[in-house]
Parts: sequence; C-alpha cells; structure tokens
Amino acid sequence: MNWKRTSFLLAAIFAGFCWTARPIQAQVGQQSPGMGIPDNGSVVGDTSALAREAQNWLVDLIKINTTNPPGNEQVAAKYIADILTKEGVAPELLEVAPGRSAVVARLRSSVVADPSRALLLVAHMDVVGVDKSKWTVDPFGGVIKDGYLYGRGSLDDKSMLAANLAAFIAIKRGNVHINRDVIFLATTDEEQFGDASLRILIAKYWDKFAAGYALNEGGRVMMKNGKVQYVGVQVAEKVSVNIAVTATGKAGHASRPSKDNAVVHLAAAIDKIGNYQAPVHLTSIVRRYFEGLAGLEDDETAKWLRVVDTPDRGEHAQRMLSDMNPGWNSMMRDTIAPTMLQAGVRVNVIPSEAKAMLNVRLLPGDTIDVLVNELNKLVNDPQVKLQVLLDGGLAAPNSSMENEFYNLITRVSAKEYGGAPVLPYLSTGATDSAQLRLHNVQAYGLMPFAITEEDESHVHGDNERLPLASFAKGVDLVTRIAAEFSVTR
Ligand SMILES: [Zn+2]
Repeated sequence: MNWKRTSFLLAAIFAGFCWTARPIQAQVGQQSPGMGIPDNGSVVGDTSALAREAQNWLVDLIKINTTNPPGNEQVAAKYIADILTKEGVAPELLEVAPGRSAVVARLRSSVVADPSRALLLVAHMDVVGVDKSKWTVDPFGGVIKDGYLYGRGSLDDKSMLAANLAAFIAIKRGNVHINRDVIFLATTDEEQFGDASLRILIAKYWDKFAAGYALNEGGRVMMKNGKVQYVGVQVAEKVSVNIAVTATGKAGHASRPSKDNAVVHLAAAIDKIGNYQAPVHLTSIVRRYFEGLAGLEDDETAKWLRVVDTPDRGEHAQRMLSDMNPGWNSMMRDTIAPTMLQAGVRVNVIPSEAKAMLNVRLLPGDTIDVLVNELNKLVNDPQVKLQVLLDGGLAAPNSSMENEFYNLITRVSAKEYGGAPVLPYLSTGATDSAQLRLHNVQAYGLMPFAITEEDESHVHGDNERLPLASFAKGVDLVTRIAAEFSVTR
C-alpha cells in the first residue's frame, strides 16, 4: 500500500476540498505542476517521451528469454518490479511455480478498495518458442532494423506489456486524483495455459487484482494500404476444445492386408471430418463486425457482407465469405482442424490402433456435445471413437458492447486513429480474458499498435516484428484509455 498517497487523500477528504484534474505528466523529468488541461480537453498530455522510455523497456523485455515452456518469467517480473519501485509504487511478486512469478501493482483511489470499479491492465510475459534457424536476426536480441523491432514477443505480448506499464506509470507520475483503483498485472504461462496460468493466479491471489474492468490483448488495429482500416476491440473469444479420435482394427502382417485396417478407418473418418462444415451461427458481435467491415471493403466483398444475415441471399453470402477469408469462416461457425496423426511402429506391420487429434474452436454459446453428436453421425463407423479431452478452454460470457468502458475505448480509439471505425471483435484465438470474464470482469482486447496482415502473420511464427512507427501511438492509446477511465476531471 502506498501510505503517503493514502494519507494525502484522507487529509484532502477531511478538508473537504475539491480537486481539479491536471494533465498527466507523462514525460520524464517534467514533473512541474500546472501544465493545464491541453486544448483538446484530454487528461493526458504529450506521451512521446514516455513512449521512448517504454520502447527501451520493450527491447529489454525481448532480451529476457521467457520461452514457455519453461517460461522463467520471474526474471522479467523482477525487471518490471524494479521499474515500478523506482517510480515509488510498491509492486508485489506473486509466485505461481518455481522460477515463475507474476507481478502486480496498484494505484489506490481510496482507502477501501472497490474491486467492482477497478481497472486491470493485464499482459502476459511468456512467449512461444522459436526456430532460430528460420529467423533473419537473433529472436532475443531486441534488434531494430528497417523501421521494425524484431523479436519474439515484439507483438505477442511484450509490446502491450510495455504499453500497460507506461500507462500505469503515467497515471502515477501525474499525481492525479483517480476515481477507481488502477491495477497493473503481468502474467505467466498464458501461451500454455498450464499450472502457472491466470487460472492458477486467480485461484491463489484473486484479491490482489480483482477488478470490474480489464484491458488485455486480443484485438487489432488493422492497417491496409498505408492507413488504419479499423480498430477491432475483442469482446469475446472462441473456445478451444481437443478431441482424440481412435480407430481400431485387426493387427497383422502387411503382406496379407484386410479391410479391417485401423489406419484406413481413421483416414476415412478424418477425410469426412476435415470436409465437414458446422452450421453458420451469426452472433451479435459478428453481425456488428461484418456491418462495420462492409463500409471498408471493396464493392464485391461489401455486397456479401451486407446480405450475410438475409433469408434469401444469406446462405450464398456465407459461403462466399467463408471462401474469401478463413478468419471470417471461423467467426461464423464452430471449426474443426485435424492436427495430429499417430499409427504404426513398423512399415510391414498393420497396427491395431490409429489415432488423430482434432482441435475444435467453438463459438461462444455452442456446446461440444452437439458437435460430437454430429461428427459421430457423419463418421458412422463403430470402429472409430471420439473422445473429448478435459484440457479444453472454458466458455465465458461476452463482455458488454454497451457499458461506459466499452464506449470510452471506442471513442478514444477512434480519436487516436483519425476517426477510423471501431468494431467489436470475436477473436478466433484464445486469451486470458475468458478467465477474467468468468470472474465477472468486463474484459476488452486490444493490440493497440497499427499493423498489417503481413505483420500479424509473424505472430507465433518466424521474424515476429513490431513496426516502430506504430509503437508510440499504441502507448498513447493505452495511456489515454486508462487515464480517461480513471482520472477525476
Ligand atoms: Zn498473447
């Protein structure tokens, strides 16, 4: 707890005086009071110096190898804790496993916390692995080249982590009155969703970061033809569920094959499943997303986006859109991707068993049992069994598209990006936000940096990179969202 701040607040409350907000002194070394509210009425001044500091943090964080497994996030947690300590905030390391700690820090709005009002800025410290031989630079070197910062985590998710840290520090430096607690949280094990993930952090330490609202990864600022096409704010995500498919048959010598071959049964089943398309189910989020997108796409695409929900042309439009873009296809229906195959030990031995794995992504609200029933009917083979594994994600309610925080994110994002449309977004991938939504948090996903589809394609791939020209604006956006939501004017 920050005693100095608390007693100052208390004294002020007893004295009954009223604050007028000052703009956040976002820049280092410019702590002089009385900057006055900028002409645009914002509570935040110029954040460019802050963004330069945040870029240095980002480079340092990329150099701290947090490949998960094993993660080893504690090194990154300590690095962040040091920065916070220097700013006069008391951070806390939350140990989840040996060598793996989250870091949390809080700016208090009052003596008695009201978690339902608190704003949580959350990002994960771990990254996925790399195939070094495919990279053109050292993935953990923090290399800047041709206007890009290269490195594992430069987009997912250390850039957001640095932006969150900058926003949090900007509010602290501003020494302003806030009307809700602002909590910074850097998490572990997001990429594996294992025994050091947010699920475990919540179970062990929920009181340390309980909040009503959260800003996380999961959205996008899409650049097309050199300008921002739209800002997508993630309000829901699909649910990942794994299914094991096992075919059984008669083992024997490969010189005397029979029709009762497990490999043949499995292959036939996978062929049917791989070509199956689950029925379209347009959620309210995807309807709104397509509506917004229709105004931005070329005439041919827009034509289909506009009729996707109509009784006469809807079905045809859904087919056209699914073929045009796998992401749109996945937003409209449950998808099934066969991803692993396993059978046999010798080339001349017919095995008695063959196995495959399916990764299913369910739309929010859909249940796996319904889909499995359909697949069983489709496969129609008593020698093939489908088993839903217990390691799947959890279905969470959507975040609201009507509340004050969503409206504020929309307004501030549009302003930041020159009036670009802000659309609700259903991410086909999973984030930590599902865990938060299950705990009544209105969580929203951003990726506040403007990137192209090409940039986005390097996430989890080779040569992950952040266009540096986009970084400062992303830091500015997160800072403005956090400050406008929490600072009393
Ligand atoms: Zn991520």
